[in-house]
Amino acid sequence: MDKHMGYNEGQSVKSRNDGPVIELRVIEVAAERLTDESLPIAGIRMGPRQIDPRKFAALGRLVERFNSDEDPVITEVFGPLHGGRKFSVQIVATSGIPAPYDAWTATYRGCLTMFFNLSEWTEADLDRSGFGVLKHEVTHVLLEPLLRKSKTPDDVELLDSIVMDEGIAHFIGCPDRSSLLKEKAARWETAEQELEKAYAGLNDGRLPRERKAALLRRANTGSFWDKYGSISGMFRAAKLYKIKGADGLIEAIRTSKLPRP
Ligand SMILES: [Zn+2]
Repeated sequence: MDKHMGYNEGQSVKSRNDGPVIELRVIEVAAERLTDESLPIAGIRMGPRQIDPRKFAALGRLVERFNSDEDPVITEVFGPLHGGRKFSVQIVATSGIPAPYDAWTATYRGCLTMFFNLSEWTEADLDRSGFGVLKHEVTHVLLEPLLRKSKTPDDVELLDSIVMDEGIAHFIGCPDRSSLLKEKAARWETAEQELEKAYAGLNDGRLPRERKAALLRRANTGSFWDKYGSISGMFRAAKLYKIKGADGLIEAIRTSKLPRP
C-alpha cells in the first residue's frame, strides 16, 4: 500500500426517508503529510508515525456501524433542516499528533473533514467512546452550513457560537444523553456559573486581551467537565430537547441562538 495515503474502506449507504443521508468514509493519512489547515492547532510538526492497523480496523467498524444505524435525534433535528441532502464525510485516520488532540474537524484538501488521531486512542477507547465522538463530529459537519457566523465576530459572539456549536455536538454525541439532566445536573450549574463570569469578563473593557483569550480558550478545551462553554451548551440543548423536542433545537439552529431554557 502507498506509504503516505491509502483508501481502505468502502462504505455502503443506507437510504433514509426523512433525514440527511450521511455517508462516512475513512482513509489513512500520515501525520507528516498534514498541513496547518488540517491540524488542530497550527505549527505542529510531526515525524513519520505508523498507523496501528488494529486501531484503524476498529475505527472502520465504527464507521460501518454509523453508516448502517440511524441516530433518531440526528434524523429528527436535521431532517427538517437539510431534507434528504447527502453528506459524504471524509474521515482521516492519522497517528502521532501530541495530546490532547484525539479527534477534531478541520479542512483537508479543501473539504471539511473529521480527524481521528489514533495514537491518542486505545482499541478499548474506540469501542467505548469512539461512536459518540463520530456523532459529535458529524453534528459539527451538519451544523456548519446552517449556523450564522459574523465575518468579524467579537468575543461575546465567539463565546455564543462555542455554546451553540459545541453544545449541540456534545448533546448529540453524549452516549447517555437521555439521563444527562437527571444524573449530572450539578455539573450544569457549575458550568453555567462559569459561563456567566466569562461573559462578564469579556464585556469588561479593563480586562487585558490575553485574559479574554484565555477565557475563550477554556470554554471548549481541557478536560471534559471543565469546558464550561461546551458543557453549558450541552445541558441547554438537552433541556431544550426535553421541553420542546426536536423543534426546540431546530429553532435554536435556525436563529443561531442557544439561550438557557
Ligand atoms: Zn466539537
